[in-house]
Amino acid sequence: MTRDLRVAALSGGVGGARLLHGLERCLPPGRLTAIVNVGDDLEHWGLSICPDLDTVMYTLADLAPVARGWGIEGETFHALEAMRRLGAPDWFALGDRDLATHLRRSEALRRGEPLSAVTAGLCRALDVRSNVLPATDDPLRTHVETRDGRTLPFQEWLVREQAPRVARIRLEGPRRPAPRVLEALERADVVVFGPSNPYVSIDPILAVDGVRDACRQKPVVMVSPIVGGQAVKGPLADMLQDLAGRAPAPAAVRDHYGALVSHVVVERGEAAGLDGVRVLEAETLMTTRERSRVLAEALLDHALGNVR
Ligand code: GDP
Ligand code: CA
Repeated sequence: MTRDLRVAALSGGVGGARLLHGLERCLPPGRLTAIVNVGDDLEHWGLSICPDLDTVMYTLADLAPVARGWGIEGETFHALEAMRRLGAPDWFALGDRDLATHLRRSEALRRGEPLSAVTAGLCRALDVRSNVLPATDDPLRTHVETRDGRTLPFQEWLVREQAPRVARIRLEGPRRPAPRVLEALERADVVVFGPSNPYVSIDPILAVDGVRDACRQKPVVMVSPIVGGQAVKGPLADMLQDLAGRAPAPAAVRDHYGALVSHVVVERGEAAGLDGVRVLEAETLMTTRERSRVLAEALLDHALGNVR
């Protein structure tokens, strides 16, 4: 059933995109706006790469493999192989089809087009129906200070160094909201925080000027990225320990957001410690597109106070 609503959803890559796919199917065309993290973005092989925007775009275009979540289904890596032979760094795997995205984006950015306009153009070309916005057109970047004293740009920390233990996350760069970001939040009936990494996906969006204040005016529903005491994927469990001194649990994520979050969706039986928010227990593992849709539908009903 589609709902006559406007939804703004903050998203990182894979976790956020899985939920966005479900939300899109619950809403009339154009009513979903994804506000996407750019803290992960990098320059590699001379190209401008936006991993979270690309994951969201490919997922909503039904190009992403459902299980892996990122990249393009059936992708090949001939260019990577050729680059390796030429001595180029090969720790960040860019697929052959994926390269077309980065080539187009890099060319447009070099011409002076803002990232938001470039993203809109790519989404149009790929028939994405929802609005996909970078949180900012500015080069806002996440850096990770590790316990062993290094400071690394996000992708070097995550991919090249395989996520060594963290002492601190640092955001660097200007942070003006991209066009339509604040407007989308102001017009939204519900704001959704996808089950994205709170430290390195959602925080860099909330750090953009005006975003946190705009969220405060709305019901905000978060989906827990922690299921069964573990991150579904990625380094979040260790990060909660390292940055908050907390065992991985939905309540640790909610406490990170504090009073900003009014509604929480957690896996069944995992509502422990969630006081002062409205909690829905549901099946939160989005292993199929249908599961994403069912979860999104329950989440919207929950946020709107509809009894199920
Ligand atoms: P990234 O940028 O690709 O790391 O993606 P996000 O930050 O958007 O999402 C990463 C988080 O999503 C991880 O902490 C995972 O635990 C969580 N996640 C991924 N898939 C699922 C899922 O199907 N259900 C839930 N509840 N969380 C998920
Ligand atoms: Ca990411």
